[in-house]
Amino acid sequence: MKNILVMGGAGYIGSHTVKHLVENGYNVIVADNLISGHREAITTDKFEIADLMNKESLRAVFKKYPIDTVIHFAAFIAVGESVENPAKYYTNNVIGTLNLLDVMLEFDVKKIVFSSTAAVFGNPIYTPIDEKHTTNPINPYGQTKLMIEKIFEDYRRAYGLSYIAFRYFNASGCSFDGSIGEAHNPETHLIPLVLKAIKGERENIKIFGDDYDTPDGTCIRDYIHVEDLAVAHRLAVENIDKFSGTLNLGTSKGTSVKEIIDISEKITGKKCPVVIEKRRAGDPAILSATSDKAKEILGWSPKYNMEDIIKTAWNWELNKKY
Ligand code: UDP
Repeated sequence: MKNILVMGGAGYIGSHTVKHLVENGYNVIVADNLISGHREAITTDKFEIADLMNKESLRAVFKKYPIDTVIHFAAFIAVGESVENPAKYYTNNVIGTLNLLDVMLEFDVKKIVFSSTAAVFGNPIYTPIDEKHTTNPINPYGQTKLMIEKIFEDYRRAYGLSYIAFRYFNASGCSFDGSIGEAHNPETHLIPLVLKAIKGERENIKIFGDDYDTPDGTCIRDYIHVEDLAVAHRLAVENIDKFSGTLNLGTSKGTSVKEIIDISEKITGKKCPVVIEKRRAGDPAILSATSDKAKEILGWSPKYNMEDIIKTAWNWELNKKY
């Protein structure tokens, strides 16, 4: 089987993708600097410490293993922090990716699957968003991802790079077998925070605004199970020779913050203490995406629903391994 290098394979979406690839017979090599990743989340025995800002550490990995395709998850992801400290984001995310591409080309590796983001769209003009929707990021995090998409396209033309950049909507849920899950520090995502409030680990959940122009006044997002995302990455590896470009990964369905709290209360059988706060800067009222193009090109469509997401996240919350 092919050697797949997963940069950032100790992180949330990366670790679920690694697990899925290993289960499907791929030879997976994980490289991670473990700044935000977890050693316990890595389910392959081929693990190398490497950092995008240290080209020698990248070269060492490519020297050790003949790589067929790279899947690149390694990035800083906190929108708020990217506004406060854009240098950290432009340096690690953009220059780091250029370093990776340099080393890939040195070793004649020309296939990359990349984690982009819904944040490249900024405030949507229409929803669900398709790939034709204009891109207009409203924070440095989204800018870095859009810049990288453009770099890939130029490298495709000039150097024959094959790439698939996935714009994820709200990745959520945890592995069904409970072995790996979501563990950010600090945690900022809605679902783990709601479940921690239900569990009593946090005092409450703060709803960031209930005066949006949506049916219940709270923001609507497109939550997609991380195991569905993992499958999309395997299909990308399998189809990258016939397609290069960007694909949205969403479910076309939206769920509001209040609906997430309601579903979580039903599944756990417990009340969630709630406080209404003012709006968080940079939050569009509604974000959702079609994945028609991903279906057409990869034969991918999401299998899991909101209940699967909350159930697996709750199971993880109660039985966390890291
Ligand atoms: N949200 C909230 N309280 C929180 C965290 C998030 O009300 O403590 C809302 C946030 O405003 C957004 C949705 O939940 O509308 C999802 O936020 P998250 O940070 O999980 O993902 P994002 O959509 O920012 O990628």
